[in-house]
Amino acid sequence: MITIIGAGVAGPLLAYMLQKGGVECTILEADPSLHIRHQGGMLNLNENTGQAALQAAGLYQKVLDHVLPGGDALRLLGRDGAVLFEKKGNGSRPEIDRGTLRRIIIEALPENVIRWGSAVRAIERDPKGFIIRMQDDSVMQADLVIGADGAWSCLRSLLTEQKPIYSGITFIELRYRNATRNYPVAKRLVGDGLMFALTKGQGIIGHREPNDELCVYAALSLPEDNCRNELSRAALLSHFDEWAKDYQTLLADSDGVLVPRPIYALPTGRYWPRTPRATLIGDAAHLMSPFAGEGVNLAMADASDLATAILAHRDNFDAALAEYEAKMAKRTTPYQEQSAANLSLAFSYDAPRGFLDFFESLSSDPQSLPEANQR
Ligand SMILES: Cc1cc2nc3c(=O)[nH]c(=O)nc-3n(C[C@H](O)[C@H](O)[C@H](O)COP(=O)(O)OP(=O)(O)OC[C@H]3O[C@@H](n4cnc5c(N)ncnc54)[C@H](O)[C@@H]3O)c2cc1C
Repeated sequence: MITIIGAGVAGPLLAYMLQKGGVECTILEADPSLHIRHQGGMLNLNENTGQAALQAAGLYQKVLDHVLPGGDALRLLGRDGAVLFEKKGNGSRPEIDRGTLRRIIIEALPENVIRWGSAVRAIERDPKGFIIRMQDDSVMQADLVIGADGAWSCLRSLLTEQKPIYSGITFIELRYRNATRNYPVAKRLVGDGLMFALTKGQGIIGHREPNDELCVYAALSLPEDNCRNELSRAALLSHFDEWAKDYQTLLADSDGVLVPRPIYALPTGRYWPRTPRATLIGDAAHLMSPFAGEGVNLAMADASDLATAILAHRDNFDAALAEYEAKMAKRTTPYQEQSAANLSLAFSYDAPRGFLDFFESLSSDPQSLPEANQR
């Protein structure tokens, strides 16, 4: 039996492609149900990774029905509120809500594939494969085990000593519902798609979401021993007291609690030695900062490549895993490098200079730039 741990995005896409190819599998997922946890955040679907994987699975058209029109617009603002760069969305990197993407894939699966409320506590080797120990003390056996269990994968510790390393930056997530009526300043600052305002060691990153909702991350330099602690609104504001008044208004009020999301990454280019009958996909394999915009895209590319390899080598799982891992490592390392480089650039001593140069180099269409940049 093939056992996949984790029903984020990677696990369900892998299971969907395996089932479609006639290979049975089960997903063990800690969450008790699909809708229990807000999966928040907009994600861009990139052509060579996420889009290609969804096309291989035959789900891309379904996903396209749910993209946010114009959501791939991009703007860079100064700490004084000035617009430094602006580009309208053109649909080349469609934006979709992460929860919607996950739901579409999960709803395409037969109902009994995911065992909700099944948190894995530990995994051990056994002459026949693996013994999986569950949080409720029950025990399962698996012939082939695939860790799609995200940043803090429990399978990873069986394969390698590599652990995620804290970047020094924590995102504080703020949410704004009914933005047009309740948060007009936030709505104006964020604009139609993705907004960055960056300075040394700090930033504000905002995203328009469907249903008139906004998601904003206030990025702070925090020590690791303090990066998960609850932050008061006053403490958050004190980090931005030299920023323009509109940003103070943005941060002073939002819906719900402030959620800290520390940014961790696995070391670049270091994976795990080939291990019989076990492998990792998605964040479990190569957690990286969101600054390459590729995490979910690579997770789906892994799922697609692993499913293709297993279906091609049904009688030899280890040949399939070796083929998948070689392809995954070759594809992933450049994105890990890019994500680390972009993170440094975003918060470097002369920020936002590096991002401005980067965005301008990407923009081949001068019509898309604001007047101030067309000189
Ligand atoms: C702030 C932020 C912004 C981002 N922006 C982007 C972006 O713009 N573009 C992009 O491509 N990516 C982005 N990402 C990255 C993206 O969200 C992840 O790369 C992607 O969700 C990884 O998917 P996954 O399926 O590998 O893991 P996850 O989505 O983390 O899923 C892991 C699943 O495993 C389950 N699980 C964990 N442990 C256990 C256990 N012991 N037993 C059973 N189940 C378990 C969890 O409950 C979860 O459902 C962003 C990430 C962050 C933090």
